Amino acid sequence: MTRALLLDIEGTTTPISFVYEVLFPYARARMADFLAAHWHDTEVRGEVAGLTDWLITTPAEATRVALALMDEDRKLGSLKSLQGRIWKDGYRTGQLYGQLFDEVADRLKDWKDSGCSVNIYSSGSVLAQQLLFGHSQAGDLRPLIDGYFDTAVGAKTDPDSYRLIAQRLSLQPGQGLFATDIVGEASAAHEAGWQAVIVRRPGNHPQPPHSFPEWTEISAPANRPRAYAPPDSSRA
Ligand SMILES: [Mg+2]
Repeated sequence: MTRALLLDIEGTTTPISFVYEVLFPYARARMADFLAAHWHDTEVRGEVAGLTDWLITTPAEATRVALALMDEDRKLGSLKSLQGRIWKDGYRTGQLYGQLFDEVADRLKDWKDSGCSVNIYSSGSVLAQQLLFGHSQAGDLRPLIDGYFDTAVGAKTDPDSYRLIAQRLSLQPGQGLFATDIVGEASAAHEAGWQAVIVRRPGNHPQPPHSFPEWTEISAPANRPRAYAPPDSSRA
């Protein structure tokens, strides 16, 4: 029986275009101002230090490096954290809303109601994940989500990442179900004892052949409690 659902975001709950056409340009346009304004913030400086092997000494240099890393779409924790801080302002001021495919909010609730824990695993930082679901177009969905995981547990193509998540969620092999748009991620999860499904959404990247089940939207849980059916009185 499935006890926990683990969802990817980009290409699974959320259109890839939201990330590349809304979130990334938003962070890019505000990176220089943000770094200049927060240059003496210890946490921000720690993240700047994590961008390179050498010492960055000015906000302008930090901006140049951060934007170059964004150009390469690097999944670097320090970069993701900086982006998350910039998005936080956007969500809080109502300039950004988290985009989700239409059925996602209802399905999260169905999985919760079925007794499953609902969790997110994305290369976006935990802060960015919480912002997206906390300020979604369907409202604040954080009460429906039990856990958030980012690349602090490891890369999404590394089976050990899924072993660690299973351990954190106290799952035995087969009790967790991971949904993603990327076959390499599904394979890693499968190798670590997870059930895995590939989600096909408009705008997703073509995937190599695979033998995972496919969803075109987030499915309702199989072990969803059935509605109460009254006894058939016509036979009385
Ligand atoms: Mg994805």
